[in-house]
Amino acid sequence: MEELAKGVIPVPVTWHRPSIVTFSRKKWGRRVALILALLCTLRLLSNLEGIPHNGYPDVPRVQEHGMLNALTHWHTSNKCHAILKGKKAEELFLSVPDADSAIAASRVYAAKPHTAGTAGDLDTAKIFLAHLQAELQINRSSSDIPLYSAGSRESREATLTISSLDEPKAWIDVYYPILNSPLDHSLEILGDDGKPVWSAELEEVADETDPYAFEFANAVPAWHGISRGGQAEGKLIDAQYGRKRDYDALVEAGVDFSGKIVLARSGRVFRGLKVKRAQELGAAAVLVYLDPHGDGTVTVENGYAPYPHGPARNPTSVERGAVQFLSLYPGDTSTPGYPSYENSTRVEGKSKPTIPSLPISWVNAQVLLNHLKDGGDGPTVRVVNNVDEKITPIWNVMGVIPGHIKNEVVVLGAHRDAWVTGASDPISGTVSVSEAIRGFGALLRKGWRPLRTILIASWDGEEYGLIGSTEWGEDFPEWIKDHVVAYVNTDTSASGSRLKAAGSPLLAHLLRETAEQLPHPSSEKRSLWDAREDTGTLFGEHTNAEIAAMHTNELRAVDDSIGVRPLGSGSDYTVFLQHHGVPSTDGGFTSTLHDPVYHYHSIFDTQYWQELYGDPGFSRHIAIAKHIGLQVFRLSGDIILPFNTTHYSLELESYLNNVESIAAADSFDVDLSPLRESVHALQSASLELDSTKTKAEHTLRKILKEWEKKHAMRHKISRKVSKVLCKLKASFFAIGVDDKLIFNSFRQPSRHLIKAIQQVQAVNKRLIAFERGFISKEGIKDREWYKHLGVAPGRWLGYGATTFPGLTEALTMDQNVTAAAYEAGRLKDLIDNLVETIRL
Ligand SMILES: [Zn+2]
Repeated sequence: MEELAKGVIPVPVTWHRPSIVTFSRKKWGRRVALILALLCTLRLLSNLEGIPHNGYPDVPRVQEHGMLNALTHWHTSNKCHAILKGKKAEELFLSVPDADSAIAASRVYAAKPHTAGTAGDLDTAKIFLAHLQAELQINRSSSDIPLYSAGSRESREATLTISSLDEPKAWIDVYYPILNSPLDHSLEILGDDGKPVWSAELEEVADETDPYAFEFANAVPAWHGISRGGQAEGKLIDAQYGRKRDYDALVEAGVDFSGKIVLARSGRVFRGLKVKRAQELGAAAVLVYLDPHGDGTVTVENGYAPYPHGPARNPTSVERGAVQFLSLYPGDTSTPGYPSYENSTRVEGKSKPTIPSLPISWVNAQVLLNHLKDGGDGPTVRVVNNVDEKITPIWNVMGVIPGHIKNEVVVLGAHRDAWVTGASDPISGTVSVSEAIRGFGALLRKGWRPLRTILIASWDGEEYGLIGSTEWGEDFPEWIKDHVVAYVNTDTSASGSRLKAAGSPLLAHLLRETAEQLPHPSSEKRSLWDAREDTGTLFGEHTNAEIAAMHTNELRAVDDSIGVRPLGSGSDYTVFLQHHGVPSTDGGFTSTLHDPVYHYHSIFDTQYWQELYGDPGFSRHIAIAKHIGLQVFRLSGDIILPFNTTHYSLELESYLNNVESIAAADSFDVDLSPLRESVHALQSASLELDSTKTKAEHTLRKILKEWEKKHAMRHKISRKVSKVLCKLKASFFAIGVDDKLIFNSFRQPSRHLIKAIQQVQAVNKRLIAFERGFISKEGIKDREWYKHLGVAPGRWLGYGATTFPGLTEALTMDQNVTAAAYEAGRLKDLIDNLVETIRL
């Protein structure tokens, strides 16, 4: 472009395949002459209307040019067909995700076990990479797989140069966390003489009905990831759900946990926290069991046969899972806050249990519970949990679709590692992402390019504690801070009938609007958003009222005013939102009390279950593929980022009301009025920003329209010339004509246009700064990795979110008014800064 501006006409032809060019010299000469003539004509045309070559600003900055490229209808591609944009592009995207293709992909990914760090896991990484390469049309010139060891020059460059890519690219980053795997384990009840009187069969039992469960029944033993190796012996004690309050109540009743083996029911809080509290109280080991009472109406009691012969729970099933202390920090426990390279310095992580634990089935739990029935002292139990702990490679697969604006990146991610074959968790999510990739692939083939860059990630090691995403997030903190505008996550996209939608309040409207725009997966007259109300269809006489009430509470209590719940932790958005302040969303179909029982982290989470019970026909997989795709489409394509700061600032007031009612209930004397004033100031600053953004977009669109109208004639001519060139290219196959060079000379924007674009960019900059504004360097007290003071996983919840966590927990957990006043002050300072940041 610069060369053109100086009046030098380059010959924009390059030889691609000279060896196969066999035409005559005479013919060749005529064709070059024709192209040169065309170029001269174009050059002349570009000067006709006297576009200033030296004026304000002669060559717009790269990013402004990026936006202009995306917004105008001038040719920007060197491909010979019309470029797809806007609504048409969206329609094409939504027409691509397809059930047959999703089923086929799921059958491949869920064909065998692929626990993080295993050969089966590496195979799935290669499959995902090949899919990215095929759909994004990435040249696979060599047979080498782009597999980069984290921290190596190649791996560093791969992420750090995302913002200078012109063509799609995909690669695999290898991180090296410390993981463990099971060696041998046992659970016994000991008699008075110390000899075992009962020995549990810990593994799940399958038959040929479900061929996957049968084949892999013993492939991955029933154990807890990151669990402490060793053995323990002690009296058994029932701790209900193992919530903090369950333990507190028992301690208050005089129970001494030291040296005891704790039996806790699965659910309500993250399993690692059940172990953490037991450990703090001096217990020797923990057993976490599955209770079919949690399965709602789909029980044997109600006449449903247990899986694989029916939809009820298989009584031998267990829930594997990590027991790391997720609410302290996620990721590799041995590299807190920094990436796990092969040679990284390791520490003894604080987020790792110091007592053994095991997951057990309902069959085994019944035996133990029977012994506890009569009250009094429980039986003596021996738990053995020997594990092999070592540095283990894991594989994140990354793919980039470069946008016009290169320094703003939207990330779409799902994890790929499973406990066993994981047809629901995580393959349903991986398949939804994979279908969305096909949609983007179809658009790319039509010459589409997003306004902002899209990065797609297939995370590994999520099951062990969000490791792949966390390590990458710790590897590139500055780059993420400077580039990533939003993160869209899906984990299990299909395990039941109800749509779950969670996200930062900044993206709540986007989540809802996109779901309202899409059809319900099975009922024509309803929208996808309506699936939030779906309950499943398997009812029965016997229900557990307590469980039903708990379920309803959990489902609704935390939703915000438009039906979106805040994000705690439990999937790969954690490092983005909680550590870096990147607004995130998470969604998928989840199981209800009247759905076929979803065997979470069990050998029974198989393709067979998925096709028969989970999502027959795969319409939910497809609905989520479209939903996440549409979110990414909007986030990467809207001129003004679809962030709602006003909804967020109103939500902050409800967080504050919540704190105030906690304080009132317990008569804590904390003055929250200065904080409330700051929240009000933020609300009015946000309203101002709303009107500025509407104006900025309106102005830009108006100027663009006028500008395009003014240049319509040249546009028409240039299109005609382009067509001729394309025809020439087709017949003159050996020569690649770079139309970009030619058409760039047409796009010298006016001063007004540049200014309008700059205003839009200024607004976007403020929108991006909003979520970042909640990040405090110091982080949350005693768990400093969590830096977002607006929301965090509850200290004793693990997955569930606590809003204003520092302030709320100072009251609810610590009953400390001084600490609460300090936290209210910190929040006020952050919010005051945010008011300054978003004011133009
Ligand atoms: Zn998962």
